[in-house]
Amino acid sequence: MSHMSHIPMSHTASNVFHKKSQTESLSSSLLEGGSVDVCIVGAGPVGAALACRLGRAGVRVALIDKAALLPMEDPACDGRAYAIAAGPKNFLEEAGVWDYIPSPSCPIEDILVTDGRLGKPASSLFLQFMREDANQPFGWMVEARALRIALNAALAATPSVHVLAPAEAHLTRREEGVEVSLKEGGNFRAQLVVAADGRRSRLRAEAGIPLTRLPYGQTAIVCNIAHELPHNNSALEHFLPAGPFAQLPLCGTEEHPFMSAIVWSDKDGYAERFAALPDALFIQQLEKRMGNERLGRVTFVGRRWTYPLSAQYAHSYTATRMLLVGDAAHGIHPIAGQGLNLGYRDIIHLSPLLIEAHAQGQDLGTPALLACYQAQCRPANMLMFIATDVLDRLFSNNNPVLRLARDLGIAGVHRIPALRKAFVKHAMGL
Ligand SMILES: Cc1cc2nc3c(=O)[nH]c(=O)nc-3n(C[C@H](O)[C@H](O)[C@H](O)COP(=O)(O)OP(=O)(O)OC[C@H]3O[C@@H](n4cnc5c(N)ncnc54)[C@H](O)[C@@H]3O)c2cc1C
Repeated sequence: MSHMSHIPMSHTASNVFHKKSQTESLSSSLLEGGSVDVCIVGAGPVGAALACRLGRAGVRVALIDKAALLPMEDPACDGRAYAIAAGPKNFLEEAGVWDYIPSPSCPIEDILVTDGRLGKPASSLFLQFMREDANQPFGWMVEARALRIALNAALAATPSVHVLAPAEAHLTRREEGVEVSLKEGGNFRAQLVVAADGRRSRLRAEAGIPLTRLPYGQTAIVCNIAHELPHNNSALEHFLPAGPFAQLPLCGTEEHPFMSAIVWSDKDGYAERFAALPDALFIQQLEKRMGNERLGRVTFVGRRWTYPLSAQYAHSYTATRMLLVGDAAHGIHPIAGQGLNLGYRDIIHLSPLLIEAHAQGQDLGTPALLACYQAQCRPANMLMFIATDVLDRLFSNNNPVLRLARDLGIAGVHRIPALRKAFVKHAMGL
């Protein structure tokens, strides 16, 4: 039995789309030349959550995705689990999404950061973030599929959101407004387009917004494991020369009471070969990286996924009547588990701007509103981009001088509680 199978059926697709016929009739009148306030392209975790938040505040939204949303609930679709920080969790609550998450989310109460070499014990100089540094969990582990189920349920419960998926949109953006026409037929108008269409954003490319991309030569192997001893809600970030190795606590099942998610970054080529190993050999390699002092033997490993890693940033978050959010605007190394959290921070800033302008009957696509959004988000996102890039480059090598310097650095941070607390506050989006 896989870990996913304990997600109760009552929350899955069958009742998520109970409002389907209502949604379809709303959408057909929209497509006959109607209008919405905001058109969001991309119904991933960022675009869909923004639609729910705006819809709850009475903003009329069209949410378009090139893929159907229901099949994304399939366990084979995505093996990731997100560490959702406190700020984004509050946002998902406000958006009416969090309560639909069908399986318990494991809190992360302790994070151990170590520097190591393959097969050798981790350096005795380490950094540990403890619950006292934050007065609440650092984050909550939510499986990608569980979040998808919750987003689908919340969308179905938000009448002012029209979901158009699968559909492909063609946009004509002018200073006075946006015309959206669908390849499948139908068109409507919007005041603003939000591009939430992910790393390879077509909208960003069509708007001619330049992108800087930094390949890492690393691929992440993602899987769930069961282990002999409890994790006590503790996460491990073990820096190894080929790339960082992370263990993140999950809630267990009856069959596997102690479970964790693994994000193991390794050099391109090697990662794919490790991921294809038979179970026993794969576990051997995994234990070499994780050590088995803390969690005992690994007793089970689920399906493995591989994701090539790179970082990128868009040179601007805005164009005429359009703005970028989430991975369309920035993609970072998963070293600190912050990619989605950064996307949520974008919409945490954007939502009140749009909701307030809507409440006052103002135009939602003015250059002033777009500039305000960019000024609130882009500088902080660039800082996180640089921090994760430097972390990966600093730790993913075997230079003995750098090794000593970084070990002294992480141990130094460990000894200064005020510095630890400052790190934690920033990472939690508070
Ligand atoms: C291995 C790995 C582990 C990670 N772990 C974490 C973690 O622990 N915590 C964390 O915060 N982040 C993590 N991330 C990052 C996280 O997965 C991303 O930041 C997040 O998925 C971005 O969400 P998004 O909605 O912006 O984009 P996406 O998830 O890419 O969604 C984009 C959506 O747009 C749709 N779309 C694309 N093109 C079009 C088009 N032309 N028209 C219409 N629709 C379109 C797609 O179908 C999709 O539904 C991880 C990433 C990786 C690779």
